[in-house]
Amino acid sequence: AAPGTPQVMPTIYERTTAAAIAHGAINLGQGFPDTEGPDWLLELAARAITEPETGPRNQYAPGMGLMELREAISAAQARRQQVTLDPATQVMVTTGATEGISAAILAFARPGSEVLTFEPHYDSYGACVALAGARLVGVPLRGPEFRPDLDAFEAAITERTSMILLNTPHNPTGTVFSTEELTRIVELARAHDLRIMCDEVYEHLMLSDARLPHRSILSIPGAEEVAVAVGSAGKSFSVTGWKIGWVTGGAELVSQIRGVKQFLSFSSGPAFQWAIAHALEDDRGFFAQNTAELEAGRDLLRDGLQELGLAPNRAEAGYFVLGNVSGITSLSAAEFCRILVEEVGVAAIPVSALTIQHLATPSDELEHLVRFAFCKDHATIREGLRRMREHL
Ligand code: PMP
Ligand code: GLN
Repeated sequence: AAPGTPQVMPTIYERTTAAAIAHGAINLGQGFPDTEGPDWLLELAARAITEPETGPRNQYAPGMGLMELREAISAAQARRQQVTLDPATQVMVTTGATEGISAAILAFARPGSEVLTFEPHYDSYGACVALAGARLVGVPLRGPEFRPDLDAFEAAITERTSMILLNTPHNPTGTVFSTEELTRIVELARAHDLRIMCDEVYEHLMLSDARLPHRSILSIPGAEEVAVAVGSAGKSFSVTGWKIGWVTGGAELVSQIRGVKQFLSFSSGPAFQWAIAHALEDDRGFFAQNTAELEAGRDLLRDGLQELGLAPNRAEAGYFVLGNVSGITSLSAAEFCRILVEEVGVAAIPVSALTIQHLATPSDELEHLVRFAFCKDHATIREGLRRMREHL
C-alpha cells in the first residue's frame, strides 16, 4: 500500500455484515437499527423531495449546510448543553459524522505527528489519521468500568502530539465522560496547543440508568478555541443511511475543517437536511421512546450474556454491550467471533478490531472482549440469545 493508505480491506463492520448474510446469522455486529426511523420523519423527507413548495431540495445544498438545519442544531445545543453557537460560522453540516471526523482529522493532524485517543476506538479514526500521514497512539480504557486513566493519557502526550480524538458517549464501552474528565482534557489541550475532535454521535442515546449526564465538550469553559464536537442525525433519529452529521465549535476551527470538507463531498442530502431540521426542532417524543426501546433491548441482551457467563458491562449509552469471553473459553475474541458467526449463527465484533493492533498482547483484556449491538428488534436479540444458549 502507498504511504498514508490506511487499509484496503473492507471495514470490520462491512465484513461482519457480509459474514452474517453468508451464514444466515443474526446480525448483532454492525451498529444500525433493523427498524426504520419514525414514519413522520420519513414522510418529511419524502415531501421535501417531491413537493416543490418546501423549497428546492434536489440540487446541491450550500457547502456549510441548509441554514434551517444549522439553526436547529444551534438551538438544540443551546437547549440541551447551554452552548451558544452562531449558525452562520460555528455549525457545519457534513455527510454523516464520518465526514466531520475525517475532515477534522485531515485539518488538524499534522503529517508526521501523533494523534492521541482512548482504546478501543471507532475504526475511522485510525484510517483517517493514516490518511493524514500521522500516527494514532491509544490509551486503553480498562474494564469493568472502562473509565479513562487521565494520568496515563497525560503521560502519552509528547512534543509530536498534534490532536486528541475523544468519543463520549463512547463506542463500544458506553462510557460517558465526566465534566471533570473533559475539563482536564481541555486544559491539557490548551497547555500543549492540541486540537480536540470530540465524537458525540450517541448524545441522544443516553439510557435512564446512566450515572452521568452527557456533557458536550463545547460546554467546558475554554473548549471553543481548541475543540470541535461532531454529531449524527443517523444515530440520533435511527436513519443511519441518510448520512447527515455536523461539526460545531469555534468559528476559526470550523472554518479550517470546512476547507477540507468542501473537497471531500462539498455537500449532500438537502431533503434529508430539511427533514432533520424539523425533527431537531420537535422530536415528537421520539428520543424518549427510542431510548426506552434501546434500554429494553440492552437489558434483554445483557441478562442473556450474563446467563451465558460473558460478564457484560453496564452499557449506559449508545448501541453496544461488551461481553468478556475469558470466563468460558481460552479462545481470543476474534476466534470466538469467527465460530459464533459460522457455527452458532450470530454475528458480533471482536473489540481487538477496534484497537491499534500493536498494542494488544494475547493476555490483554481487550483481546477477550466482544461487542454485541442491542439497537435491534427484540425478537432478533431473543433469537440471537437462543442460538447462543443452544451452542455455547
Ligand atoms: N462515530 C461513532 C463512534 C460511531 O459509532 C459512528 C457510527 N454511527 C460514527 C461516528 C459514524 O456516524 P455517521 O453514520 O453519522 O457517519
Ligand atoms: N457506527 C457503526 C458501528 O459502530 C458502523 C458504521 C459503519 O459501518 N461504518 O457499528
